[in-house]
Amino acid sequence: MTKRGFATRAIHAEDLRGTPEGTPVSTPIYQTANFAFATSDDYADVIQERAEGFVYTRLGNPTIVKFEEVLADLENAEAAVCVASGMAAVQIPLMSVCGMGDHIVSTQSVYGGTHSLFTKYLPRFGIETTFADATDAAAVGAAIRPNTKVLYLETICNPTLDVCDLEGLAALGHERGLVVMTDNTFATPYACNPTDLGVDVVIHSATKYLNGHADVIAGVMAGREAVIEPMRRDVQQAGAIAAPLTAWLLLRGLKTLAVRMERQAASALRVAQFLEGHPGVERVLYPGLPSHPQHELARRMLRSFSGMVACELKGGYEAGRRFMDALQLCVRAASLGECHTLATHPASTTHRQYTREEREAAGITDGFLRLSIGLEDVEDILADLEHALDQSGGQ
Ligand SMILES: *Cc1c(COP(=O)(O)O)cnc(C)c1O
Repeated sequence: MTKRGFATRAIHAEDLRGTPEGTPVSTPIYQTANFAFATSDDYADVIQERAEGFVYTRLGNPTIVKFEEVLADLENAEAAVCVASGMAAVQIPLMSVCGMGDHIVSTQSVYGGTHSLFTKYLPRFGIETTFADATDAAAVGAAIRPNTKVLYLETICNPTLDVCDLEGLAALGHERGLVVMTDNTFATPYACNPTDLGVDVVIHSATKYLNGHADVIAGVMAGREAVIEPMRRDVQQAGAIAAPLTAWLLLRGLKTLAVRMERQAASALRVAQFLEGHPGVERVLYPGLPSHPQHELARRMLRSFSGMVACELKGGYEAGRRFMDALQLCVRAASLGECHTLATHPASTTHRQYTREEREAAGITDGFLRLSIGLEDVEDILADLEHALDQSGGQ
């Protein structure tokens, strides 16, 4: 049978082919901590893994497993593990693969929480990280040491929207014996399946596009079974599992992922084109614009350019702050990938903890803005941006 399309697989989490009498169309929420057994032998068979079954929700739960199966399928992966947050999905694979004395090479443009994991938390366990410009394969190669275990990438980097050549970098990493991981949050499985390009571990903050409605915190990692299953043990050990209700909200979010991505990418392109033509804007970063430094790569590698747009205002820090304060529709809020259009000014918010040198190395200048384009009418989004740009006075 030919494989069904992305949207169909995302919607048909429950298999309703054949004789579906009594099958719930929407997956139920198994809001329970534990599961009963008929006999003590049955109980022993399941805990000793001689038989399939559920024991205790920290170890597994039908609603969570259903989300993991659907997400693994959408990511062209053999297995997925759902966890309590995107940060758990970043940390657990790294700590699963690395031990004391090991080294990581990471893209220098990386999510702020991941940056502090590398610079502040992992060093306490003897794990060091070198940041390299992931758009330059030679720089990545030069950063690899004999004790390097992981090459850590973001498919579309936060917040600069650099696009990593996953195929080339995965080949480079494998040549040097590394486990290659990418944070696919900005791209989503709708735009890119990193496993097809050789990546070993695909990471998502499911809080963002996968859920799509800003009402859960969750994460997920996906890859080959042999890579992901040891991480499942670490998740159970750490107790970093997601709640059944969270998995249910994620299953619901996935059903509309394809249409949301199509609409958000279409609106993001309109916004990017508008900003590129505005005299107060120094430069615009959107992988779908021909002016983006990796536009050709993005065209080859991504099925959608996603809904994230960045730009730099001519007026610097003060113009950035005035722009933010003048917004009347777009929301001044953290996070991304939801129905509302969100705006952030990293220099005064998310990247305040960086030194100026670190910020500039990560490509974030004082007038840099990040927009997550939502599902509102694009004319309303454009009108609000135009008004805020007029107020920013940066021309
Ligand atoms: C938000 C985010 C994370 C962290 O996810 P949480 O769900 O907030 O823990 C990791 N990576 C990227 C790219 C993100 O945007």
